[in-house]
Amino acid sequence: MVRTMLRIGLTGGIGSGKSAVADCFAALGIEVIDADAVAREVVAPGSPALAEIAAAFGGQFLDREGRLDRARLRAHVFEDPQGRKRLEAILHPRIRTVMEERAGQAQGPYCVLVIPLLLEAGQRDLVDRVLVVDTPVETQYARVAARDGLDRKQIDAILAAQLGRRERLAQADDVVVNDGDLDTLRRRVVDLDRRYRAMAGAQG
Ligand code: ADP
Repeated sequence: MVRTMLRIGLTGGIGSGKSAVADCFAALGIEVIDADAVAREVVAPGSPALAEIAAAFGGQFLDREGRLDRARLRAHVFEDPQGRKRLEAILHPRIRTVMEERAGQAQGPYCVLVIPLLLEAGQRDLVDRVLVVDTPVETQYARVAARDGLDRKQIDAILAAQLGRRERLAQADDVVVNDGDLDTLRRRVVDLDRRYRAMAGAQG
């Protein structure tokens, strides 16, 4: 396949600041494609994926309007590896296809694909470079507790299912450290944007 545009894969642990970094890129006019948003789209009411999920897991995971109760299904498969595999087999190929399509249609010097499990779920080949948002673990806990109202144990369980900080960093091409305020983060993204534009120019 001929790639027309430089693709940056933005990843990081829960609460590391992926959305905050993605917003900084978007503010600089860069197209951002968010795997979480695509994951919601592919299970929209009436979609084939939703029908498959209902067939595999039962109608109790749909609400009265026929929408998927994602939190309930997530909780259901969290401790059931086989169920999770089935769910992933339904979702991942579809998410991937849509991400590919959007990246192929994106405009601008480069595009950013936000993929929380980029390294865990074998999606590295979707992108040209891996940009990791790195945040001290204590900061992650504090931000997730504030944002989602989860306690330490719940956050521990989510973190245990993700790569550790060191393994993730080992696979990074670029790192943005999110240990300061949002202005600091913005400045760091401006520096990255400059580098990516230069790379895209050299490539194109
Ligand atoms: P992720 O998308 O990686 O889960 P978010 O970007 O949603 O993480 O960040 C988690 C929470 O922390 C959000 O409420 C966000 O607004 C906040 N946050 C992220 N970065 C900073 C920062 N540098 N300063 C203050 N709050 C931040």
